[in-house]
Parts: sequence; structure tokens; C-alpha cells
Amino acid sequence: LGRHRDDQRQSGFTYNGVEFSQNNLNLFAGLCAVDNQEHVDIMMRELAAHGQHCTRMGAYKPRTNPYSFQGHGKSCLPWVFETAGKHDIRVIAMEITHESHIEEIDECLEKLGRPTGVMLQVGTRNTQNFELLKAIGRQKTYPVLLKRGFGITLNESLNAAEYLASEGNANVVFCLRGMKTDAGSPHRNMVDFAHVPTVKRLTRMPVCIDPSHSVGSRDAAPDGIPDVMHATAQGVVAGANMVLVDFHPRPEKALVDGPQALLMEELPAYLEDVNQCHQLW
Ligand code: PEP
Repeated sequence: LGRHRDDQRQSGFTYNGVEFSQNNLNLFAGLCAVDNQEHVDIMMRELAAHGQHCTRMGAYKPRTNPYSFQGHGKSCLPWVFETAGKHDIRVIAMEITHESHIEEIDECLEKLGRPTGVMLQVGTRNTQNFELLKAIGRQKTYPVLLKRGFGITLNESLNAAEYLASEGNANVVFCLRGMKTDAGSPHRNMVDFAHVPTVKRLTRMPVCIDPSHSVGSRDAAPDGIPDVMHATAQGVVAGANMVLVDFHPRPEKALVDGPQALLMEELPAYLEDVNQCHQLW
């Protein structure tokens, strides 16, 4: 992934009509977890109405507690992909936690005539699951969104990205999502978006930020602007190329991470803010 200056490997790629590079910005607003068809439809319809073609939707959810909702898995894929096709959503960022999920996604997309595309997301807990990384790296159909490990060094997380590339898949976006700390951060994780330019300098990968899993709540500053938006602004001004952010039509009904999801009525202002911050590049 170009961590050596004399390296001629690619920087950026285009997937399903969407360009990913160190020079542009893509927004992936969406549901942390797919819960029901109505919410998926509302989410995608609103995104389409605002000119958006990408989203995030979790079908396989890695949960800290085994008794928490684990995601609908394979069973929801047909209606999620069909709904995406209906609303011209071209890329869905979807976390996978086992290599068998690649086949499940691929079989389903193939059967439906590929109404949309999928970016395979590797979550922070799996950043050093080397066998999973190798399996994802061996396939070249789907690009990869690799989250930074929350408790390892940046260098170790960048090495994880090299696992993907060394197996053949260099279509990788690296995602900053905050770090666990005992230093008393008021947020769920210490926001690390100052590292956006650092990762861009050290690699050729486009860099994503996930303000929702960094901040972890819908709390707002005294100006009324949610901390998630403030964190987004920091990351976008710092040069982020992708934003992964949780929205939900009814956060109180969300099955995963409802308290950090922004409200649908906040989407237009959020898009406007992201756009204005992007102009500051
Ligand atoms: C997610 O994006 O749904 C997620 C679980 O993120 P992370 O792996 O960063 O915790």
C-alpha cells in the first residue's frame, strides 16, 4: 500500500462507479445494524433524495456481549441488496467477521444480478485477525474498509492493511475510529482524526473517519451541534476521504448503538457541514 516512497503501487481505485482516492470524499451514512426492512428503506430513500450513492449497513455484528443482537446475517442480504438497487445505492460498507461471509454476500449479489456493490468492512476487533485478512486479500471482487485496531499502534494497524495487499487486494481504505484509553476521554473512544494526514503521508490509501464509533453518543456541544458533527468536521478538514457515520430513523428502536445515531432530520445539515468543511481543503 505504498509505505515506501519508491513503491509504484496504486493509490486509489474505482468501484461500481465510485472513486476512492486520497483526493476526494465519499459519505457513507447509514444504519449501524440492519434491523428491519422499513428502516433500511427509509434510510436508503433519504440518502438517494440527497444525492448520496453509498451507505453503511451491518448484517454481521461483532458484539461484546454474546446475548446482544448479533445481526440478521445472511437472511437479510436479499432485501438489503434489492432495496439498495431500488434507490441506486452503489456501494454498501458491510462488516464481515468470517471468511464464509464473503461467499454469502457474493452468492446473493450474483443471484440478484448485482443490484449494488459491497465494500467488505473489517472491524476494529478483527484488525489483527490475520487469517481473515488473508482470505479477504485473496479475493479481488470487493474493496476493503479496514478499521484501525483500538488498542494497538498505528504501525501495527498499517501492517494489517499490508496483509490485504500482500495477498493481492490493494483496494483498501483505512478507517480511523478512535482509540480506547484510560485517560478519561468524555467520548466512547479518544477521537484520533489528527492522524488523517499522517496516514495519508505514510501510505497511498484513502483515509476514512468513523465519528460515530469514536464519539459514541448523540451528545451536543453548547452550540447545539452534536459532538459527532464536530468530530466529523475535524476529520474532514484534516483531509478525510470517506466518512462512515450512523444515522437512524428511530434511534430508540435501533438494535445496535442507537444512542450514537444521528436523526434523519439532521441529515441535510450534516451533508451541508461536511460539504463546507471539504471546501476548506
Ligand atoms: C461498526 O462500524 O459497525 C463497528 C462495529 O465499528 P468498530 O469495529 O470500529 O467498533
